[in-house]
Amino acid sequence: MRSVRIAIIGAGFSGLGMAIRLKQAGIDDFVLLERADDIGGTWRDNSYPGCAVDVQSQLYSFSFAPNPDWSQVYAPNTEIWDYIKRVAAEHDVDRHVLLNTELQGGTWDDTAARWRLETSNGAIDARYVVSAMGPLSNPALPDIPGLDNFTGTVFHSARWDHDHDLTGKQVGVIGTGSSAAQFVPEIQPSVAQLTVFQRTPHWTFPRMNRRITALERAAYRRFPVLQRLVRARQYYYRELIGTLLQKPRALEAIARLRMRAQVRDPQLRAKLTPDYRIGCKRVIVTDDFHPALTRANVEVVTEKILEVTPSGVRTADGAEHQLNTLILGTGFEVMPIADPLRGRGGDTLTERWQHGRSAYLGTTVAGFPNYFMLVGPNTGTGHTSVLLYAEPQIDYIIDAVRHAERQGAAVEVRQEAQDAYNADVRARLADTVWLTGGCHSWYLNEPGGSSVLWPGHTGRFQRALARFDHENYTLRNARTQNTAS
Ligand code: NAP
Repeated sequence: MRSVRIAIIGAGFSGLGMAIRLKQAGIDDFVLLERADDIGGTWRDNSYPGCAVDVQSQLYSFSFAPNPDWSQVYAPNTEIWDYIKRVAAEHDVDRHVLLNTELQGGTWDDTAARWRLETSNGAIDARYVVSAMGPLSNPALPDIPGLDNFTGTVFHSARWDHDHDLTGKQVGVIGTGSSAAQFVPEIQPSVAQLTVFQRTPHWTFPRMNRRITALERAAYRRFPVLQRLVRARQYYYRELIGTLLQKPRALEAIARLRMRAQVRDPQLRAKLTPDYRIGCKRVIVTDDFHPALTRANVEVVTEKILEVTPSGVRTADGAEHQLNTLILGTGFEVMPIADPLRGRGGDTLTERWQHGRSAYLGTTVAGFPNYFMLVGPNTGTGHTSVLLYAEPQIDYIIDAVRHAERQGAAVEVRQEAQDAYNADVRARLADTVWLTGGCHSWYLNEPGGSSVLWPGHTGRFQRALARFDHENYTLRNARTQNTAS
């Protein structure tokens, strides 16, 4: 059995960030378990045409590893994946990664104060576990009758079939979310006919991407403070947008005007205009999605899909749309509780969270000593970079590890601290546009609520995690198993 101080589950952006910060803190005794055959998480898996980040790259990168070489304001997926791999290599994190190693189970041994993990490559024993599995890592396949009987080619946007040439094909796309909005404009010019099946229209917001000039990049390299200033400007711009999304009328007016300019056909515009408040669902940052839908070879179908037939899709109006290829832009399972660990009481998170997910600061869970989550419950954001939430979590975890080791004990959040924190989050969520805006969205993943999003400014979250608040934790002594404050 391999024995380590810390096991990180998942070698995507946040897991690698954890690993790098551990290195910087002088902690070298850790492994990253990665179920796939390479690192990079979502930026390894999503390779569809046009795939790019929808938050400015200066903000969507580690604050401790700025990249002066981003080629565009919104970098494409390949560049982001390269960045992740380069930064991991530069910090000597690669050698800690165990590829093709899936966490299959694990229990907390309260006597030894250690996690006993089972993986597809054998047992691992760890004092601390950091779960960094990613909130949107498993593709969601739609539950549409007949999907298995389709005789053409079908694939999900996150598993793009690059061997399948779309040129001259009759292509159907199910879904009009952030992913479809990026690949539809890319594939539209080459396909013969594109049928886009839209269940709900989405609000869009200007992207205004542009190349970053060689001069800018040279300036960022020479004067890193300039890049920090750009990042700070983007941070505050996005916080402003986040605030405006909670008072959406002004942004809706802008979005309507833009739609009028981009989509001249009133019938198509009516189809594409949402009947819920902007911000209720994730706003799509795009300049070319709606224009692509106006092209002659594109049809937007809003009739309900009844079934997939061997040769196409049948909708509620009786029409059968003939297709060679069906692309599922149907999103992801939201924050799947893929974590099979059993806590101190022997229950898994799935069992514990039957009636809703609850964690403290989205990071720790009562009953799970020395266990930490990155991008856990209510750490999602609809307006800015998720890394702005993951980074304070990472530093908080390192503080927690240091505290635990100073005390010679395991740390476990107090149930009452977790309950009070969650009551506050629920109360603050209640009058947000996500709950009151009149839409159904993947944000609303709990009966009557959300355990996805953080209600408030990013700074508030960052301040809450600025230091490890040991007073809200119980120490579990490894030698005596007693609990002490
Ligand atoms: P998504 O936003 O969840 O969109 C899924 C789409 O599929 C929606 O239009 C949904 O309709 C539709 N759909 C799902 N099941 C369906 C069914 N059974 N029948 C008909 N339509 C169905 O997924 P996504 O576009 O992959 O994006 C997911 C998230 O990933 C984004 O919100 C964003 O956070 C992230 N993302 C980020 C980037 C980026 O940074 N560049 C790019 C892509 C994605 P409804 O709206 O009616 O549910």
